[in-house]
Amino acid sequence: MESKAVESSKELQEQRLDMEKLKYCFECGICTASCPIMEIIPNHYNPRILLEQIILDLDKVLKEEEALWLCAWCYRCQRKCPQGLKLPEIFLPIEKIAAEQGYLQGFERAYKRIGREIPLPIVCSWVCFHPERAQIKETTINKVIKRYITDYRSKQKASTKLKSHEEKIAIIGSGPAGLTAAYELTRKGYPTTVFESFPEAGGMLRKCIPDFRLPKDTVDAEIEYLKSLGVKIKNNITIGKDITIKDLFHRGYKAVFIAIGTQESRKLGIEGENLKGIFHAVEFLTQANLGKEVKIGDKVVVIGGGGVAIDVAMTALRLGAKEVQLVCLESREEMPSHEPEIQEALDEGIIFNVSWGPKRFLRSGDKVVGVELIRCASVFDEDGGFNPSFDETVTKTIETDSVIVAIGQASGLSALGEEIETFRGRVIVDPMTMETSMPGVFAGGDVVLGPATVAEAIICGKRAATSIEDYLKAKKSSRS
Ligand SMILES: Cc1cc2nc3c(=O)[nH]c(=O)nc-3n(C[C@H](O)[C@H](O)[C@H](O)COP(=O)(O)OP(=O)(O)OC[C@H]3O[C@@H](n4cnc5c(N)ncnc54)[C@H](O)[C@@H]3O)c2cc1C
Repeated sequence: MESKAVESSKELQEQRLDMEKLKYCFECGICTASCPIMEIIPNHYNPRILLEQIILDLDKVLKEEEALWLCAWCYRCQRKCPQGLKLPEIFLPIEKIAAEQGYLQGFERAYKRIGREIPLPIVCSWVCFHPERAQIKETTINKVIKRYITDYRSKQKASTKLKSHEEKIAIIGSGPAGLTAAYELTRKGYPTTVFESFPEAGGMLRKCIPDFRLPKDTVDAEIEYLKSLGVKIKNNITIGKDITIKDLFHRGYKAVFIAIGTQESRKLGIEGENLKGIFHAVEFLTQANLGKEVKIGDKVVVIGGGGVAIDVAMTALRLGAKEVQLVCLESREEMPSHEPEIQEALDEGIIFNVSWGPKRFLRSGDKVVGVELIRCASVFDEDGGFNPSFDETVTKTIETDSVIVAIGQASGLSALGEEIETFRGRVIVDPMTMETSMPGVFAGGDVVLGPATVAEAIICGKRAATSIEDYLKAKKSSRS
């Protein structure tokens, strides 16, 4: 066992030097400064130090390092890294070797940590930490979740005595940002109510992330736990329609956290987009997640190159499509979805049409029957801004029974009223306190960041909970 491990570590050393130019790390620490997991558990996860440990003592990392398993795949580090290092993809082969060699000590220690210190730990196990990408078996993951998360929680609940404050807090939206804030504030002893427009709680975890990525009984378990701690969730209430933010203050709430995410699918705005057989990602995934029938036919075209487009394409296959073609403006290297997701889609037989853009939809009566594409010559301008240019002389047509447009999501900001300042479709907040332009109103998650990740939504919810407590304490002391 020992010699096999050392042998594969040596192979890995060689691979790693080829991979991602790891040796070019400046040790500037920007990866660490931008990492949401580092912010939650600073003493146990530091991507820069993990990189250094990999170079200095790979065998130790393989055998026992819990940090190896704590990257949340948000790619924030890569977006900020001056060298563009893709840390999640650097850590993955090392995780794979640890799993292959049976070195699961670090993995188990990581799960003990996740159970105690990461909000929504069961959800995060599936959609943030991705141990399955290292080929850890589902049965092993479930066993570890039970041992370190579920069991720990039942003991924690039995021994927790919550202190209590009188100030009521309203949370708008029950996605990971809202649920995290509700969890943290409830634990601090504040009566907290979550208002949710959808009939069930969970935000994108419930509505859009497909079941094959995140089983819905996992979301149920997480929400049941929060309710058992005292979090109240009121469904079927839309802020801005049934009640306004001002009304919430009139009803005695002393602070509000807006976590409404991005629920509206962006439209292409091209000829034929209203034809029958054309769907948009959020609505399509919501119908599929609710188990409602969506008639997509045999041939499906998905437009978009991000992770949502990949989820849409893989969902279409599961709904019975015989052929799914994905079309995106970007080249394979520029696609915003990440390598493991792209690989999964290719493995399932999804056909990629990269560097193409849709020009118009073709119709037969009121039904879509095809998409005409034009060659995308470049996606970004000299300053790196999204500014696609096309070569109209190069075209092709794909015949199809249905099209699903997955080119991004936007927030329904009109619900918030004029007091909340916004810019380019997002709520503006102080990045440290998450406070908006309206006193006592905080915001976080996708409504502030644009479509992001669960880990980033969680960190916003945590920060907001701390700031709301500070705000309420300051108000109380100014009165006394
Ligand atoms: C298809 C898909 C797959 C994804 N996969 C992953 C993944 O694998 N890993 C990952 O980390 N991230 C993933 N994400 C991103 C992740 O789901 C989001 O970043 C995250 O859910 C954002 O959390 P949030 O709390 O800000 O908003 P949301 O999760 O969007 O929750 C907002 C909630 O607010 C409610 N709401 C909206 N308006 C109102 C209103 N006016 N009144 C009351 N309630 C309102 C909505 O109904 C919703 O329930 C995925 C997203 C999608 C769409």
